[in-house]
Amino acid sequence: MPEKNKIYRTKIDTINHLGYGVCRIDGIVCFVKGGVTGDVLDVKVIKCNKNYLIGKIENLIEKSCHREEQSCPVYKSCGGCSFRHISYKHELELKKSFVEAEFKKANIDVKVNDVVSTGVTERYRNKAQYPVNFDNKIGFYAERTHNVCENADCILQPKEFSTIINIIKNHINNYGIKGYDEQSGKGLLRHIYIRQGKITGEINVCLVINGQALPHSDELIEELKTIKGLKGVCLNVNTKNTNVILGEKYITLYGNEYIEDILCGLKFRISPASFYQVNHDCAELLYNKAAELVKMGECKNITDLYCGTGTIGLCVASQIENCKLTGVEIVPEAIENAKINMQLNNIENAEFICADSSDTSNNILKNTDVVILDPPRKGITKELAEKISESKVNRIVYISCSPDTLARDVKWFIELGYTCGDVTPFDMFPRTGHVETVILLSRKDVHERIKFDLNIEELNRTSQSK
Ligand code: SAH
Repeated sequence: MPEKNKIYRTKIDTINHLGYGVCRIDGIVCFVKGGVTGDVLDVKVIKCNKNYLIGKIENLIEKSCHREEQSCPVYKSCGGCSFRHISYKHELELKKSFVEAEFKKANIDVKVNDVVSTGVTERYRNKAQYPVNFDNKIGFYAERTHNVCENADCILQPKEFSTIINIIKNHINNYGIKGYDEQSGKGLLRHIYIRQGKITGEINVCLVINGQALPHSDELIEELKTIKGLKGVCLNVNTKNTNVILGEKYITLYGNEYIEDILCGLKFRISPASFYQVNHDCAELLYNKAAELVKMGECKNITDLYCGTGTIGLCVASQIENCKLTGVEIVPEAIENAKINMQLNNIENAEFICADSSDTSNNILKNTDVVILDPPRKGITKELAEKISESKVNRIVYISCSPDTLARDVKWFIELGYTCGDVTPFDMFPRTGHVETVILLSRKDVHERIKFDLNIEELNRTSQSK
């Protein structure tokens, strides 16, 4: 058994989704921060747990070919990027292996395709939520803490976001406005939430406050108006002692309470309370793949569960003649956006319902040919899987940001008589440990019927040619 504070020579086998090198010391798994696949290292064991060890690099003996210079000055203290120290090629290989591992763990035999990527790994985000602390530090939480790590210009975000942060920082310092202290619950400014439409350039700035008003907001707005693309400034009121960033109430201080953007050739209106994929260009690749899967068979009635502002459903419906789209989403603002988005794009045969998608007591799935599922990280419920199956839905296009819950849910669908196609991962979040995936599930009896129909055709053809 390895001992604490002892140094061991070891080779790193792989990297986990948190960016830790993984190796074995005397057969026990050891996680080494900064270790890269192929590195030969002297590792000091700093923690011995029951089933694993934590190690620290003492000496780099042989450097892995996957190592890359870190292009960010605060990479080590900021918790945002797990993979900034390795080549992007290796990051994509790892992400594919993470997805494969989850399906293997769930005992599902499935082909995982190579990870689809836009190839862009910097400034791809269109949204940031910066915490502000009691020292008026604005930045991101350092790994596994709530210590704010400042970064003059995060290279995952648009350049304009850094300028906005500087303006707000000067404003709060000039007027003696205090950032929020999580311990005492005192202080006004909690978070700065910014969104930018990738194609339109429209920007919305939302200040999350522990109060009802921001002092000298008119002066702040004048300053912010110098930012190109600024369309609106709003407050979000969050007076609760909670880790949840946003409260329920929004107050528009200037301009629109939403931004608009173009995605897959359609126009979308998005409010701060509504979900919008953070990587616009990768979202287009993903939604086009989803549309391709939806169109693989009969799709007269499509139900988009967890539909947000209707992005996927409307993108898909705009490509299909005579289909009926039903979208279901729990956030009322997102449903309001979705109803407007349908009009903005002249899509008529659609309906958006504000409801819990996991509610199995309604009739929403009746006559549905294809269900699009795009739930939050926790995935769906077994009851919803059963309801989808009972409703004789032919195909399910399942998009997920969490491969472990995806594999669990796919297992349920397999048990309920569905067959799964290939899994395609998408690199929606380059340099971080997250990966998005899409998979098509088809009812087995439909598969068999298609086969049967083909056989009849075959027979007819053979008999005709006789
Ligand atoms: N498909 C959309 C949104 C996906 S994110 C898009 O691509 O833009 C997941 C969405 O599920 C969020 O909008 C979230 O508000 C919504 N959601 C979370 N729990 C839900 C539930 N129980 N019922 C319906 N929608 C839910």
